[in-house]
Amino acid sequence: MTSFSFATVPVILSAPGATKDLGKELRARFPSLRRVLLVTDQGFLRTGLADAPTASLRSAMFHVEQFADVLADPPEHVIEEALALARQNQTELVIGLGGGSSMDVAKLVAVLTDSPQSLAEIYGIGNVRGTRLPLVQIPTTAGTGSEVTNISIVTTGATSKMGIVAPQLYADMAILDAELTFGLPSAVTAATGIDAMVHAIEAYTSKHKKNPLSDGLARQALSLLSRHLIRACESGHDLAARQAMLLGAMLAGQAFANAPVAAVHALAYPIGGVFHVPHGLSNSLVLPHVLRFNAETCAEQYAELARIVVPHTEGSVAARAEALAVAMQQFAIITGLPRTLQQVGITASDLDLLADEAMKQTRLLGNNPRPVTRDDAYALYKLAL
Ligand SMILES: [Zn+2]
Repeated sequence: MTSFSFATVPVILSAPGATKDLGKELRARFPSLRRVLLVTDQGFLRTGLADAPTASLRSAMFHVEQFADVLADPPEHVIEEALALARQNQTELVIGLGGGSSMDVAKLVAVLTDSPQSLAEIYGIGNVRGTRLPLVQIPTTAGTGSEVTNISIVTTGATSKMGIVAPQLYADMAILDAELTFGLPSAVTAATGIDAMVHAIEAYTSKHKKNPLSDGLARQALSLLSRHLIRACESGHDLAARQAMLLGAMLAGQAFANAPVAAVHALAYPIGGVFHVPHGLSNSLVLPHVLRFNAETCAEQYAELARIVVPHTEGSVAARAEALAVAMQQFAIITGLPRTLQQVGITASDLDLLADEAMKQTRLLGNNPRPVTRDDAYALYKLAL
């Protein structure tokens, strides 16, 4: 057996309604801290779902300041504004409350508030020096798994993004409370849920760092996500389905934080970057085509996953691998997501730009089980058109 290392967040609390007692929970864990910065976005604030956790913090004698200006795919100025507020408030504890963007911003605020380093200095892998403020992550969508990953993504230009990967970005605690995901629109539930499934699939076939722990997590994640996605989409208030989705997304996050994602994400990022298509949907659009492309190299692994997603799958390894691709396409069809690039406004003349941008995702492409050339990338986009 090959050697490996595995890291994750030390404390995970998974309980519907848990954030109603957030103050009590955090007071017990951080008895000496007072000054909290809650990092979230305006859309989530408008749901009113942040009210109970905030009131709970205040009744536990926390002084709570809110930064609610997180934008999707956060640009650098958002992080700078959040940092300024954290310093002005003398923040001692950072809480990310939202989707991947809010949690990614919270990580960077925790790392940079008391640091002499600038944001620009920490881009890349392993460039964070020193420690960070205590950090708690509370996801309000079941998708990114950012609550248990050591990665933040920042938008640095019109279409370009930079990643920060460092062990300091792992939080002290993640809290999964499905009541916070109530009322998420079906299309968002579907796209973020498929993103989480892609995290599990790509972790399971990741070329260099796949290991027994990430494999087990990916399989369990895929089982939970595939059994509950449709239910969660059909009924926004199905608490059991929503909690299962949050748990599945978190397990997939633990898997891909250690066995990183690959070509599906490499091809999806330019669709998001250039055409502002949401991340989960971008993944869903290219997913079946990349699965069929990769099946030449890793049909056996896909066949294993097909037994989880489509339990009664029979036939040859190739047939079962194909069944996985078909099943993933079915999720998009049943939940009503767009299925072609043209449906999101992309035309044949855009494919060269997309292929060029995808080839820049070398960090991700290096994890893919089958090498991807520029011609391959173009051909995959053409299939998805
Ligand atoms: Zn993703």
